[in-house]
Amino acid sequence: MPGDDRVRDVAVVGAGPGGIFAARALAARGLDVLVFDEKGRTGGAGAMTDGKLNLSPHIGLDLAELQLGEEEAQKRIAGIDEVFLEHGADPTVYGEDRERIGVWLDRVSWARRKTPKGEWDITLLPARQRHMGTDRAYRVVASITQSIAAAGVEFSLGTRVQDILLRAGGPFVLGTSKGETLARYVVAAPGREGAYWFRNAARRLGVETRYGAIDIGCRVEVASPVYEEITKVLYDPKFLFVTPSHGDRTRTFCTNPGGRVRLEMREGFKLVNGDALKSRKTANTNFAILNTVSMTEPIQDTTEMGRKVAEFANFWGGGESVVVQRWGDLMQGRRSRADTFLSAETEYDKMVPTLPPGEGVTPGDISFAYPGRIVDNLRESLVLLSRVIPGVAHPSTAIYVPEIKFYDTKYATDRNLETNVPNLFVAGDGVGKSRGIVGAALNGCLAAEGILRKEGKG
Ligand SMILES: Cc1cc2nc3c(=O)[nH]c(=O)nc-3n(C[C@H](O)[C@H](O)[C@H](O)COP(=O)(O)OP(=O)(O)OC[C@H]3O[C@@H](n4cnc5c(N)ncnc54)[C@H](O)[C@@H]3O)c2cc1C
Repeated sequence: MPGDDRVRDVAVVGAGPGGIFAARALAARGLDVLVFDEKGRTGGAGAMTDGKLNLSPHIGLDLAELQLGEEEAQKRIAGIDEVFLEHGADPTVYGEDRERIGVWLDRVSWARRKTPKGEWDITLLPARQRHMGTDRAYRVVASITQSIAAAGVEFSLGTRVQDILLRAGGPFVLGTSKGETLARYVVAAPGREGAYWFRNAARRLGVETRYGAIDIGCRVEVASPVYEEITKVLYDPKFLFVTPSHGDRTRTFCTNPGGRVRLEMREGFKLVNGDALKSRKTANTNFAILNTVSMTEPIQDTTEMGRKVAEFANFWGGGESVVVQRWGDLMQGRRSRADTFLSAETEYDKMVPTLPPGEGVTPGDISFAYPGRIVDNLRESLVLLSRVIPGVAHPSTAIYVPEIKFYDTKYATDRNLETNVPNLFVAGDGVGKSRGIVGAALNGCLAAEGILRKEGKG
């Protein structure tokens, strides 16, 4: 536990999939591992929420960033999937029905057009996926945690790591809310929530970082029948768009059939997100449309830019709220209002949002709340999508902002995710190496293998 003089082999910061899979692999080879998480539980962000497991190597990881080949990634993903299955994940896999996927690919091929640069304006990327569900993911994570605790991993939950220092030639010193811990190796897997904190801690240690692209977008909510023809085949369909006005790249992300739109609380601002329960379905489906934004000249801090966009959107929501707008209002160039939000006259009563106006959610105008080019891109993406799935452009469709994915700080690492500071390894979304549960878990395994190799156990 923190506060003793013992020098641990490895301290892991973060008990999300990145940290858990690192700890699991290290303990299996007899290393002494202590995992910190400021939350009072394990599982991190996603393993405790929706739990869609992306089983395709091109989703949720950047193979080039990880210096991984497709075949190797596929093999590793299968191994991670096995672990989730062993611990109770639903055996159903979506995205394997070639015939029905073929019908959708055909439909997209008739709906798409070439942009002036010769790119397709809409593409469908089929992917294999498993869905644990927010309710079932909780039990799967508890079972994985128990098994690695039984293998000797210690957890210090409800403990915030405040700083990481390095003694000359000696171990790392982790200053935590419960005292100091010494460790020969550190695996930092702080997730998107801890990304900002870790970036500062890493820079103090001399770790090299650079700014990457950030995903800024919206959450779209539609009535389930609009989307279910595709979600029965592809649970979380990945549409890629090149927008007509600006030629920018956007994509659908994190679809939740029968799910709920949720608030995501951050220090100083609120975001939107979505999830779905396995046992109880709503009448709606939600998904994100994300716009990848990078800065060129002058190169600026994309994390800061994302925070400012979020704060400004919350400001338009009345100070501390996300903004929701009906598609019908957006297309008519008017704000949404509480008194007409469920109006039968405009058919808004056909879709009752799962995150309705109220505390933390204000009906308004996303064109005021968000940068103009991003609003253009989100609007045009939904119009492109409506060529394939017409109902998404029903007036009752609700658009929520801000939805922002903070995985934009990149760390220079080797193939095992060791930074330029020897024995400091990174893993997961918070360090820009993954974008999902399976990707983060794969990162954790890579970091663990790096440590084991240095220990002569690889
Ligand atoms: C609502 C929601 C739904 C999602 N649905 C899906 C989905 O269906 N499928 C999917 O693949 N992905 C989903 N995601 C994304 C997924 O959660 C992440 O990709 C994944 O959890 C990243 O794993 P990680 O280990 O990198 O970080 P995380 O899971 O974020 O874990 C990091 C942990 O580190 C802790 N931490 C941070 N800083 C400190 C500190 N200083 N001291 C101590 N502890 C610290 C945090 O408390 C956190 O528990 C969802 C995310 C959200 C928010």
